[in-house]
Amino acid sequence: MNLLPLPAFQDNYIWIIEDKDSSDIWAVDPGSAKVVIEYCAQHEKNLVGILITHHHNDHTGGVAKLKEQTNCLVYGPKHLKHLVTHPIKEGDEIAVFTRVFSVLETPGHTLDHLCYFSDQATPILFSGDTLFKGGCGRIMEGTPKQMLAAMEKLSALPDNTLVYCTHEYTLANYRFALSLEPDNTDLIESHLASTLLREQNKPTLPSNLDLEKKTNPFLRSHNPSLKTQAAQQLKEEVATNSVESFSQVRRAKDTFS
Ligand SMILES: [Zn+2]
Repeated sequence: MNLLPLPAFQDNYIWIIEDKDSSDIWAVDPGSAKVVIEYCAQHEKNLVGILITHHHNDHTGGVAKLKEQTNCLVYGPKHLKHLVTHPIKEGDEIAVFTRVFSVLETPGHTLDHLCYFSDQATPILFSGDTLFKGGCGRIMEGTPKQMLAAMEKLSALPDNTLVYCTHEYTLANYRFALSLEPDNTDLIESHLASTLLREQNKPTLPSNLDLEKKTNPFLRSHNPSLKTQAAQQLKEEVATNSVESFSQVRRAKDTFS
């Protein structure tokens, strides 16, 4: 199978999963029906399935129309009864062409957030708005404790996991990351490589978990100098437990400019 990003709105990617042996495709988080319909028309593809990570409109806005037009399967959070044909939960498995994806519940950005992980061959993670390249989603519904647990769950996946998130936020994320760790050579290198990609209007994705563990402040909030920097940016005392350290890093990013 082949994965490719369809840009949508300002900075979303709708990931398309193509089958090697047929014209069938799946779409992840189709916030826009138009983008997917045009792609199918241009390339003579048939949409047969959708994966939804969470309820936000830029991830689900195209689902109703796509389902109506193609009668495709729709997997997603169980409370989205009007959209999903297959409500899912932690540990459920979904067959997508030759791969099987397991459902990981990762509340934090939203309470319903799901990630999809496949560990065959090179592992793949669709991380939605939970884990970004160099960042993580804002905590809009959950708690810092939930979001930290989600980060720890994802960081326990294999290092060679390719990370496909839904937004092109990498350069903004790296500006903040560099403010916390200006001497992190992996971060400096990845920032440079990502800057070159954006100059050519290319996606900076996918990332991989090994790189994220070395560069993403939200997987590194235990790092002594990083958490000291975050506390300094907030003009607060350095936190003494892991949840509060994570929360300080998140809040420092929320107010970073
Ligand atoms: Zn979202």
